[in-house]
Parts: sequence; structure tokens; C-alpha cells
Amino acid sequence: MPAAERKLRVCVIGTGAAGLCALRHLATEPAVFEFEAFEQTDHIGGTWVYNESIGVDAKNQLPIHSSMYESLRTNLPSVIMNFPDWRKMGNGEKSCISHSEVLSYLEDYTNHFDLRKYITFNTSVETVQPICSVRSTDPATLVTSSVANRRIWKIKIKDVLNRTIVEREFDAVFCCNGHFFEPNVPPIPGIQRFPGIVMHSHDYRKPHPFTGKTVLVLGAASSGADIGIELTGYARHVYLSHNNPRLISALPANMTEVMGVTGVEGNRFILKDGTSLFADAFLYCTGYKYSFPFLDETCGITVDDNYVHPLYRHMINVEHPTMCFVGIPLVVVPFPMFHIQVQYFIASLKGNVRLPSKDIMLQDALCKSPLKRRAHRLADNQWEYNDGLARDGGFEPLPPFYKAGYSAWKIQRSRNLMHYKDAKFVIDDDGESVQIIPNDNTAPVMSR
Ligand code: FAD
Repeated sequence: MPAAERKLRVCVIGTGAAGLCALRHLATEPAVFEFEAFEQTDHIGGTWVYNESIGVDAKNQLPIHSSMYESLRTNLPSVIMNFPDWRKMGNGEKSCISHSEVLSYLEDYTNHFDLRKYITFNTSVETVQPICSVRSTDPATLVTSSVANRRIWKIKIKDVLNRTIVEREFDAVFCCNGHFFEPNVPPIPGIQRFPGIVMHSHDYRKPHPFTGKTVLVLGAASSGADIGIELTGYARHVYLSHNNPRLISALPANMTEVMGVTGVEGNRFILKDGTSLFADAFLYCTGYKYSFPFLDETCGITVDDNYVHPLYRHMINVEHPTMCFVGIPLVVVPFPMFHIQVQYFIASLKGNVRLPSKDIMLQDALCKSPLKRRAHRLADNQWEYNDGLARDGGFEPLPPFYKAGYSAWKIQRSRNLMHYKDAKFVIDDDGESVQIIPNDNTAPVMSR
């Protein structure tokens, strides 16, 4: 087959929601792409696969990937977690669903789009390296070819059960290895000598080890607030420690919001405002670090204080634009964003999107936030981001209820951290506006 007609060989690393979404869209172009996903575990779903163990997985000797805890219910209403082309979640009374329901949804998505046949399980991607070669003997064809001037990716994959390694070549790579598995553990002077339980939320599974204890939870984002509130049902007292603006929601009677921790002396935690308190368990809910252990340095990607550089539109490797990273933006609604990012990258591989010059992409990749670790935080800008990708990629944007639902949800959550997950989520008949109806007789939140 002449190079111009050769299919593009695409590798997908990981089969969590992002990798599955990549497969689902690649599968719509069988004449253009030849593709395969490698998944280091024996199942799809990534984060949503609850594993009671911590540390190393006895089955494959790999560090346990999922940070899921037993009681977890989604912190977003499941209606807006749906992929727009597979809207099955969110038909119940309560907006937020369990991790096993999300996993079932992803299994249904996989079965419906018949994706399992593209996945090689128990196979970890060990190294990814760009090599500069295009395998054709016909330079004339190459100049016009869609694969002309593209790097080939040399990828080493390991059968984690038999420990064998093979090398494969691809024309493009989707990095969908997840971003919530490598704990971020800020240094705290004295913590090594703290005599109580010290744990990161990555290893939190159940509240029982904290029964009767005084627990200091560091960090009040999704995990800190959620786990902290769960612990109040078991612990003597929970301190929720952070340096962000104070929460407006009521908290359980045995939970106190305090400032961030600056050091520990024995059991005494010293706080940023100079006060101190005693605790006998300490839980880091301080988030995760981006980690791509398989990328050779010649891929050109660095991670500095959680700023992944250089990425065009938070996803495309500027040094080698046939590599993309799905799911880098933070404070977003992940599944629908994956749906958009994946289609944009596919459009660029097909040549339907012309990427700008390297200089322009580098400009775009600069950190726009004063703090590098916030470089990929989109929050309310996520809708403009998604719409821009859809517009430039020439495909359908997200339906408006995603944005309306997210805005209303943010208000409902901040008002009522203890019970927000039980509210009912209703999309009005116009398909655009949303009502969140709390189950405690407080006023509904509406948004459009
Ligand atoms: P993952 O789900 O992490 O999947 C990555 C996959 O890649 C895994 O299967 C892993 O085994 C595989 N992999 C990694 N490295 C390799 C390798 N080298 N070779 C082969 N395979 C590899 N989002 C929401 O929308 N709503 C929520 O309520 C919500 N709650 C969350 C709660 C917690 C505790 C956490 C940690 C996250 C939560 N999220 C939530 C965010 C969630 O991570 C995303 O929704 C989404 O599931 C991420 O999908 P992913 O495919 O990017 O990554």
C-alpha cells in the first residue's frame, strides 16, 4: 500500500474513561486508523475500579492505580458526567451515584461501542520514544502523504503477567494514563516523627481505622471535604485544614475548619495563624501529581510544579504534535471534555484541523496563571475551551445543559456540603436550563 493510503497506526495508553472515549471515536474511522489500546490492569474503567487493597497489586505487582474509596458517590451530578453520545446515567432520584454505577456505565459504553476487541489487557506501556523515520521507499508519495514528516513512535510494552517486553511502532499516541494516581505530598516539617496514622487519600478506603480518633484532614477540595465529612461519623473530631477562603456551608458538629498546617511537634500541629491543635491521625487530601513515567525525555514533555509543558490547548505535545494527553485540565467535568478533546485530536490527525505554527502553539502553551500548579485549572473557562475545540475541529459542541448543570451544581454544593449529593437534578423541557431540587426543603437552584 502506498504511504498516502496507509492507515495511521494509533496507540492508546490506558482504558479509563479517556482511553475508552479515544477508542470509541477512532472506531468511527476504520478506513483512516488502525488502533490498539494497552491497559496495565485486567479491566477497563481506571479510577472507577474500586480496589480494597493499597500499595502494590498482588496480581500484577504494579502500584495500585485507583484512588477510589468504598463509600464514594460522585461529586458531580451523574447526568452531566454522561458522554453526550451515551446518556444513560442520572435517571434516579439522587443526582450523585456510587463508583460501581459509574463503572457499570463505562462497561455499557464499552460493550455498546464494541471496544473490548481493541484492548490488550495486562499490558503496560513502559517507554514511548519518538523516532524520526517514515517507512516508505517512495519520497514522492511521502510529500503528499498525510503521514509525511510525522514522527514514528517506538513503544515498548510489557506483558505484566509473563514479564515479556515487545517493541511496537505507531504514528500517533493518545496518553490516557489518568492523573489521579501519584499522590502529591507537600513537605511538613516534623511529620516523620508524628506518632499517629499518616495517610494520603490515595490509600483511603474505609473510615474504620479512624474510629474514635481526632483526625486532621489537610486540604478541603473534593476529597478533603468528602472524606472529612465521612470521618465525622466515626472519629471523635475532624479538623479540616486549608488556606482557601472559608467554606459557606454548615459542617457536622464534630468538624472544625482551621488554617493550613505549617509544622508538627509530636502530636501537636502548628497552623498558619499561629494556633495549634492535637490530633492522632493525619490525612493528606492534597491531590495528585501528573506523571508519565513511560515518556522518554526525547518526547519533550516536562512536568514542573504540576505544569505539563509544552501542550497546545492543554493537550497536544507541541514538540511532537502526533502525541496528545487527554484529561489534563483540572476543575472540569471530565467525561464530556474527553469527548471533545479526543475528537479534536482525531481531526488534527486526519488533517481536518491545521495546527498553527510551533511558535504560536508555544505561546498558547505558556502558563497563564501566577502559580504553575494552577496552569491547567479551567473551572468556568472549561466551556469556552470545549466550545473552541469543537468549533475549530468542526464537530458538535456539548449541549448547553452541561454548563447550566455545572453552574447550578457549584452553588448547591457550596451551600450544602453535607447533603448536596442527594439533590435531584432536572433538565427542563427546553433541554437547556437545569433545576437542582434539594431534598431538605431549601430553595431549588436554577441555571441556564
Ligand atoms: P483513569 O481512570 O485513571 O484511567 C487511566 C487508565 O490507564 C487506568 O486503567 C490505568 O491502569 C491505565 N494506565 C496507566 N498507566 C498505564 C501504562 N503505563 N500502561 C498501560 N495502562 C496504563 N470525575 C467525575 O466526573 N465525577 C466524579 O465524581 C469524580 N470523582 C472522583 C473521585 C476520585 C477519588 C478520583 C481520584 C477522581 C474522580 N473523578 C471524578 C475524576 C476521574 O478521575 C475522571 O472522571 C476519569 O475517570 C479519569 O479518567 P482517565 O481515563 O483520565 O484516567
